[in-house]
Amino acid sequence: MDDTTPDLSRAPGAEDLAQRAADLAEQLPEALAPLAAVAYNYRWSWHPGAEDVFRAINPHRWELAGANPVKFLSDLWPSTKANASRDRALHEQIAQLSAELSAELTRPTGERPKTPGPIAYLCAEYGIHASLPLYAGGLGVLAGDTLKEASDRALPLVAVGLLYRRGYHHQRLDLSGRQLEYWVTSDPKSLPMARVSVGGEPLKLSLDVYGETTWFQVWRVDVGRVPLYLIDCEVPENDPVQRWYTARLYEGIRAIRLAQYALLGAGAARVLDALGIEPAVVHLNEGHPALAALELAAGEVARGASSEEALARTRERFVFTTHTPVPAGNETYSREELLGLLPDLPARLQLDGEAFLGLFRSVPEDPDAPAGMTQLALRCSRSRNGVSRLHGEVARSMWRPLFREARAEDEVPISHVTNAVHVPTFLSAPFRELFDRHLGAGWLARIQEPETWAPIADVPNEELWHARCAARAELISYVRRQSQLDRLERGEGIEYVRAAATALDAGALTLGFARRLATYKRVYLLVHDPDRVRRIFTGDPPVQLVVAGKAHPLDEDGKNALRDVFALKRASQELARRIVVLEDYDLAVGRQLVAGCDVWVNLPRRPLEASGTSGMKATFNGGLQLSVLDGWWAEAYDGTNGWAIPPADGLSAAEADAHDATCFYDLLEHEVLPLFHDRGEDGVPHRWCALVKAALLTCGPRFASARMLDDYVRRVYSPAAAREAMAPTG
Ligand SMILES: *Cc1c(COP(=O)(O)O)cnc(C)c1O
Repeated sequence: MDDTTPDLSRAPGAEDLAQRAADLAEQLPEALAPLAAVAYNYRWSWHPGAEDVFRAINPHRWELAGANPVKFLSDLWPSTKANASRDRALHEQIAQLSAELSAELTRPTGERPKTPGPIAYLCAEYGIHASLPLYAGGLGVLAGDTLKEASDRALPLVAVGLLYRRGYHHQRLDLSGRQLEYWVTSDPKSLPMARVSVGGEPLKLSLDVYGETTWFQVWRVDVGRVPLYLIDCEVPENDPVQRWYTARLYEGIRAIRLAQYALLGAGAARVLDALGIEPAVVHLNEGHPALAALELAAGEVARGASSEEALARTRERFVFTTHTPVPAGNETYSREELLGLLPDLPARLQLDGEAFLGLFRSVPEDPDAPAGMTQLALRCSRSRNGVSRLHGEVARSMWRPLFREARAEDEVPISHVTNAVHVPTFLSAPFRELFDRHLGAGWLARIQEPETWAPIADVPNEELWHARCAARAELISYVRRQSQLDRLERGEGIEYVRAAATALDAGALTLGFARRLATYKRVYLLVHDPDRVRRIFTGDPPVQLVVAGKAHPLDEDGKNALRDVFALKRASQELARRIVVLEDYDLAVGRQLVAGCDVWVNLPRRPLEASGTSGMKATFNGGLQLSVLDGWWAEAYDGTNGWAIPPADGLSAAEADAHDATCFYDLLEHEVLPLFHDRGEDGVPHRWCALVKAALLTCGPRFASARMLDDYVRRVYSPAAAREAMAPTG
């Protein structure tokens, strides 16, 4: 990165955000006013203790506001403001928080990683905080974690996405355990965002989608030092269908979903241009935004380049991360769909229809070859990677037809950068305090160095166990409250509602299973053998399980599987005390679960879990994995740091299900549970603690997002990576 790289924090929208913060500050008494600026940058959400300051003002209203500080501060009662104004201790906390955060945001950037210039990061979803519902699952949370880590490292990165006014669906279960969906419209006015203006006028851009002028405005959200720009079609010029383009994430209507990808790709390219941001690197995080490459290439053609030159020049700037081998994540489209979406694009690229379509196909000249955004992204990027070592192999095999020069699978130019998690976002207070005590000052800045973690070996087991028990107790009181609410909304009998208040046992081995309920994640394996489940989960010593996850609204299999889990546990009072199904899995629920569970269960059908990241979050909170050897766990497991369900190659799907389920129950019954109850005279499970330490020592340095971002900077963003890249066929 050279000195000419613009300071992105001052890019358009910064003044609009500052104005909104100033407007909010004006409504607040002097003592609370500094919190307005804090509220308008998500940096507070990973600053230790920041949430406690908001909560101290009025804990109940903080909860009602969904932990959204803009809404919280805008809606305070006059009496609350008056009370807060009289609270000296609170004033000091607020002043300190505000000073710490502004110091963080203006910290000199001398040591930032070297990159060639601004990196534009494009993604269909962003999971930054529960109050900003623009994510469905792992892809979005990874994108959010990447933005936060880029901010922590002062990397010059700018992100573009879509402002889904209705977000992703919420989930309720009916009395039979059947998923019902509903959507909640969020109002930008009560969120930490501002509409971007350029030259004093609100920015208004357009794109011809399906041959009709579609208008959009742009919002800015600050994630620490990283600006996130969001495209929004909810403008008066658009008709109801066009407005719906940015209504819902992963919209069920195909034509709308495709229009979203046009906006996320070509639209994002126009946004960057209008903001005057010239990216040195464009990172396509998953294939959805791939049309950005063609829009930028069309710009080169307009400036006089041939289409070949334009595509080659564009490719020099683009890098691509593929996130899943599952077909639903690599959708394919007909020629009519692809030609109809942006009808003027082929001509702007000076390509005829066939040549244009060839860019999307696995085999360019084969009209029957599958055609989609993943192929386009692979073809238009100089660097391509999967998200774990195993997924790299799977992706090389899967996409080999695009790279005919590759004589063998290992020559297919797709590498891997294993995913990781933003630790401050997911670390519970007991473990943060433990690490603060033992890992030395500034350990977070050195998190990817193995030496940073070495002192873990010497932490007294008693202290480690104390932190685990505190984290578990916190989870159990959360689950009891949440579960009472779920049961009330569902309309259960009052006895059953009340029973939730005493469900689970603070001292019992607590398993967690929470993720999107995509079929390959196999939540149904949990109840594959109902008799055995009853025996294990009602036995002595006790073991308990918290399950959460949403199925896509069109995914009947996922919904049925969840209903089966629900029905099994609901049929027995004893099981209902030991197995809890929490509704409406999101970042707020997820953070609680990964913090509190002793064991994190993951049962994907190998090799379809490209990485998985929730298990990493559990690891940093002293949780242990009980998982199929897939995704990240296939490279993290070393025989001493958790439990693995070994691969059973050559089996049919049904046989593999039976094999993996049996393995899961066997490990749980014969290894995990006995180890948890193997206590010393001091009541501490010393061998269990040894396993937790092994997990932290082996995974701590490798699965924090600092390591991931360093890998991207060195191996992907750095221009040196371009020279190693092989151009794909066609
Ligand atoms: C981490 C996380 C995910 C991803 O978890 P996987 O293990 O990759 O399935 C999904 N949703 C939420 C809310 C998360 O926090």
